[in-house]
Amino acid sequence: MTINSPPDYYLSEVRTDNGGDCLTQVEWAYMFYWFNHRCCVCGTRRHLQADHWISRKRGGTSSVTNVVPMCRKCNKRKGASPALGWLVLRCKDITKARWIMARVEKYFSEVEQ
Ligand SMILES: [Zn+2]
Repeated sequence: MTINSPPDYYLSEVRTDNGGDCLTQVEWAYMFYWFNHRCCVCGTRRHLQADHWISRKRGGTSSVTNVVPMCRKCNKRKGASPALGWLVLRCKDITKARWIMARVEKYFSEVEQ
C-alpha cells in the first residue's frame, strides 16, 4: 500500500477520542487529511471518531480500507447498520447517500493501492 504522507503538522493536530489503535499514525492522519478533518457523512469537524464502514459485527476489519472519520453522533446512529441503507435513512435523499457512498469508496480504492 502506498500512502502519500500528510503534512507533518497534521500528525500532531489529529485528535480523536477512539479507534486510534486501528491504523498507524500516518494512515490515521492521512484519513483525516483526505476527508478534510470532517465527518464523512454530515461534514462536522466536532467529536470525530473512527467508524468501521462495514461494522466489526458484520466482519469488517480495522484496516485503512474499512475505517472512515465519522462524528460521534453519526457513528452512534449508524451502529452496525449496513452503510448504504443507513445513509439513505440518515440523509432522506438517495442522491446524497450515493454521493457519500461513492466518496468513501473512492477513498478506500485510493488507500488500497
Ligand atoms: Zn456526522
